[in-house]
Amino acid sequence: MRIPSLRGMSTRLCATIALSFLGAALSAAEAGVAELRRALPDVHVAGDGAAPRMIYRPGGFLSGPDGFLGGPGASGKAQPVAGDADLARDPHRSVRRFLDTYPAIYGAGSQLDTAEIAKDAVSPRSGMRTTVWQQKIAGIPVLGATLVAHTTNNGSLVTVGGRFLPDLVQVAARNQKRTGAAAAPQVDAAAALKRALKAIGTPDLERKQVSSSLSPGPEQRQKLGMPGVHDTQAELIWFQGDDGLHLAWRIRYELDHGFAYGSVVDADNGDVLEHRQITIVCGDCNAPANADPHVAHVAHVPARAVAQKQSAATPLATKAAQISAAPFNTVQMRVFTGESPKPMMPGLASPNPYYEPPTVPSQLITIAPDPLASPNGWCNASASTMGNNADANVDHNFDRLADRRAAGTIGGGGSTLTFDFTPDLTVAPQSTTANQDAATVNMFYWMNIAHDRLYKHGFTEAFGNYQSENFSRGGLGGDPMIGTVQTALGRISNNASFTDANSDGVSARIIMFLFNQVTPERDSGLDAQLIIHEYMHGLIMRMINGGGVHYGGTYWPQGRSMAEGYCDFMGICLTADPNDDTSANYPFCAYLTRQTSPDNYYRGYRQYPYSTNMSADPMTLSMVPLFPGQEVHGMGVLWGSVLWDARAALIDKTDGTTGTNMILDLVLEAIKLTPPEPTLLEARDALLLADVVLN
Ligand SMILES: [Zn+2]
Repeated sequence: MRIPSLRGMSTRLCATIALSFLGAALSAAEAGVAELRRALPDVHVAGDGAAPRMIYRPGGFLSGPDGFLGGPGASGKAQPVAGDADLARDPHRSVRRFLDTYPAIYGAGSQLDTAEIAKDAVSPRSGMRTTVWQQKIAGIPVLGATLVAHTTNNGSLVTVGGRFLPDLVQVAARNQKRTGAAAAPQVDAAAALKRALKAIGTPDLERKQVSSSLSPGPEQRQKLGMPGVHDTQAELIWFQGDDGLHLAWRIRYELDHGFAYGSVVDADNGDVLEHRQITIVCGDCNAPANADPHVAHVAHVPARAVAQKQSAATPLATKAAQISAAPFNTVQMRVFTGESPKPMMPGLASPNPYYEPPTVPSQLITIAPDPLASPNGWCNASASTMGNNADANVDHNFDRLADRRAAGTIGGGGSTLTFDFTPDLTVAPQSTTANQDAATVNMFYWMNIAHDRLYKHGFTEAFGNYQSENFSRGGLGGDPMIGTVQTALGRISNNASFTDANSDGVSARIIMFLFNQVTPERDSGLDAQLIIHEYMHGLIMRMINGGGVHYGGTYWPQGRSMAEGYCDFMGICLTADPNDDTSANYPFCAYLTRQTSPDNYYRGYRQYPYSTNMSADPMTLSMVPLFPGQEVHGMGVLWGSVLWDARAALIDKTDGTTGTNMILDLVLEAIKLTPPEPTLLEARDALLLADVVLN
């Protein structure tokens, strides 16, 4: 059954403006695309024809199970074909046939077998297979030379996209000087890091000593240690320049002020080839329209803050990897089970400045981890807020060392573990250890809730989720989500941030700042919606376009906006009662945004409440031009509203629980089917495709 209420999506995405890309010069790839269009007139090619980011048919599949275009089963729910030995032998046959039929598009007809399969994962919800191929030369990956395909459980081709070098062998031969056994970099990783630091204006760091620990392998993957620079990883890649391939270092590093960067530095001459700030700041849509939060916040950090610290801290990620099975039969935690200490969902029907609902007490509850998502429970033998899925801690000075984790009390002869800390909301959050521990436990609880809920809808180990131990279920372990509460960095407040390592197997970090526009400050570790919002950024990074995209593929304003919208949506969806009025107003982070927004229990952190009522939440596609430049949260509300409308429609057609499960399945499946750097309309198409795949 397709979901009828999704067919029209919502009035929000009527295409009143054209979102298209300028065509490049006619190329062989474009000729291939033209040929494809003749065979499948309704095909959509995301991006210019010279380098399609993704190819799909809105509402249908590119091929039937036999791999031929437009064959039987080219749309509709996929049914497994019993005894299809050929498919079992070659699960990628439809991809292969597509590429062989249109070799010019990706230049990859017969080259599929020369690339390495970087990911091959099957959705537990739909049976859809996601495969990512990565081209390598001399064992070193070519940056951006990936191909991503999705096939149904009976072998129909849903999407294909990416970019392959048209002839890897010839390219390698042309670069023989660099690709042979003697492909030694002329500039080592430490020197490359210093060049990257110089490029972002930190010459004082440039003179420090750098140590490195090298892992075996042609990529020369290594961790670098340097005072004032943290969680640094470097690896060799091939960078595709206009003049050919450059052997280069891809370096990911973080400075004291909490912002992480990704740089690509030429391994021959030290030139910085690419540079980006990769920490996501989730803040305020009231910022000036052209402010880039990714850059503006860095500029606010006093330079001395960078120079003063000399910490050579061990990355939290490596410390959190020590996990053993939970020995406790019963775990109890005192948490806020609503979205905040002052829960109120739905929110106000109309603006009522400074209205606030009463504070409710936190509750001591018995934890019930999902047995599939968390087979060993949430806690381990450390009896603290460090477990397989999450490591929650207080890190006031942000030296990347936990000031403290909340320690549970062991009772019942060693069988029970209890975290019972009651916060005093009338005093400053940092001022008592009970407040610190209460926020840490609440953070831990909601990160684990996010883990378990999203796991059930498809964010599993094989799709790169965040776990220390992966139980031999695919993907790489060693990467529990790290969440720090009550962090104070320079002048950053009233916000939260997310930084991923852009690599399965390496932890990501959520930083929850204090909200200081009221006295005492409000602790964002007590706000479940913001915690889930940040966690969701990680899911998007790992799953968009099936994963394997350089830094998540949401770096242009529409993509970044949609990331914020997905995250707001998930924060509300996982905390709202699905049996409440679906046509009411739902503010995001109402508790934290007192003063920032005097209408905080009406519209929360954003310019509008999330609502199907167009007079309360009037966002439509036609309003996109009102959000020019780089401010992403305002436009993000549009995408969050689309998802919120879809949720409401599904609940109205079914019931609260069924509708919620349907929209969560759709959203997670759709994120995989979303091309990198998507437009809003492509993301809508991905939701409709997900509906075809799932239903
Ligand atoms: Zn965000």
